[in-house]
Amino acid sequence: MTTSSYPDTRLLIANEWVDATGGKSIPVLNPATGQAIGTVAHASIADLDRALAAAQQGFETWRAVPAAERAAIMRRAASLLRERAVDIARQMTQEQGKPLGEAKVEILAGADIIDWFAAEGMRVYGRIVPSRNPAAQQLVLKEPVGPVAAFTPWNFPINQIVRKLSAALATGCSFLCKAPEETPASPAALMQCFVDAGLPAGVLGLVFGDPAEISGYLIPHPVIRKVTFTGSTPVGKQLAALAGAHMKRVTMELGGHAPVIVAEDADVALAVKAAGGAKFRNAGQVCISPTRFLVHNAVKAEFTRALVAHAEGLTLGDGLQAGTNLGPLANARRLTAMAKVVEDAQARGATLATGGSRVGNAGNFFAPTVFADVPLDASIFNDEPFGPIAGIRGFDSLEEAILEANRLPYGLAGYAYTRSIRNAQLLMNRMEVGMLWINQSATPSAEMPFGGIKDSGYGTEGGPEALESYLNTKAVSMVGV
Ligand code: NAD
Repeated sequence: MTTSSYPDTRLLIANEWVDATGGKSIPVLNPATGQAIGTVAHASIADLDRALAAAQQGFETWRAVPAAERAAIMRRAASLLRERAVDIARQMTQEQGKPLGEAKVEILAGADIIDWFAAEGMRVYGRIVPSRNPAAQQLVLKEPVGPVAAFTPWNFPINQIVRKLSAALATGCSFLCKAPEETPASPAALMQCFVDAGLPAGVLGLVFGDPAEISGYLIPHPVIRKVTFTGSTPVGKQLAALAGAHMKRVTMELGGHAPVIVAEDADVALAVKAAGGAKFRNAGQVCISPTRFLVHNAVKAEFTRALVAHAEGLTLGDGLQAGTNLGPLANARRLTAMAKVVEDAQARGATLATGGSRVGNAGNFFAPTVFADVPLDASIFNDEPFGPIAGIRGFDSLEEAILEANRLPYGLAGYAYTRSIRNAQLLMNRMEVGMLWINQSATPSAEMPFGGIKDSGYGTEGGPEALESYLNTKAVSMVGV
């Protein structure tokens, strides 16, 4: 079945779904067909003002709700999300393109993240510090930072919101989200779960519109106390600079260009299965996608043959179609970007081992692509490809591979395959990344930190550290009472 109902999306302000003032809206396209399937409301400044006022009111209500009650509402929302996963997955596939199975996994993982943060929110304790003055009592209090402005991208329409929203809600913050205009319906369905779970009005808000106009208005606004963004490094730098000018707390989860080091002693079949699978998940539009395959020359030919066979075995198609395991790119910009990456790699002498072009002329389908013998100056080895293209390059010593892995300004995810503990320790200590997976594909979870270093951003969206970034620390010392 390739068609399904798809809703128009409105703005969520104070638990009401409303049209934009003036009724302006943006079309939503299905990337598998290029056809318009719905619309999303385009917020005006007046709408943002109402959403900000609601977020302030929501914060004052929510911060006073005991953590255990906050957790109960969050857990109810997670249960509703699980119950509705099949329907929401169909909406996500239609707006984003990913295969239905991947959409469902994303939604169920989102429910688990909400549950984990709900529980962790009950463990925000503060502490008592013995004073140097025996008559004084010293306390360290943890308080919610305040209303949060979040900006999330279209590659994981639910998961990118869930990581931010769960940490914010668990700590008592209100949360105003500008979600992606390309993929608005599944974020709206996520928010509806919280409304139906009994979240007080104003704690959550959802807006869409002109991204630059909205961030330019929300970030400096005095109601907003914290900014969190997931997206490209250039946009992240602009938003971090704006937040800095207004002294707002910031978390930035930006681009990556993950190296995959396959050592001479690696299990090559495992490396291809794990890293090959990860490479083409969500059509490569993943910030932690493996992109630069650095393979020891002794196993490079074997690895290349197997990765090409893996790529050629994928079924490219509409994500709603049974059997599809590689969907279209999420928007037409990615098609243009892929064509440029391929043209550049060929001009610089890389060997096109498979793929390399658009498939069909309707929808954003691009063949899974593998380049071998990629020169270091090729764009695929320097700029985040964000698509279904893998580049392979040989090395002779692990030292050489580590230097290449660390050469770029990115530092998000890294992967390595080796059977030696000595190599594993060397890689663990030397790779400049925020997350490293050895002999496995990525297994992000709520309880593990998720974030990057260098130009990939700062802050983390997993583990107790994620909650810390939504908390202020207050030191209190009292005598005479
Ligand atoms: P883009 O850089 O224009 O936008 C990336 C995201 O940021 C989008 O969701 C967009 O709506 C938002 N955005 C853009 N300008 C903004 C602004 N001034 N204020 C607030 N939000 C803004 O590029 P794109 O074409 O949408 O995506 C392509 C690139 O974005 C990719 O190459 C990739 O590097 C990056 N990206 C990264 C992630 C991630 O998970 N880290 C997700 C999506 C896109």
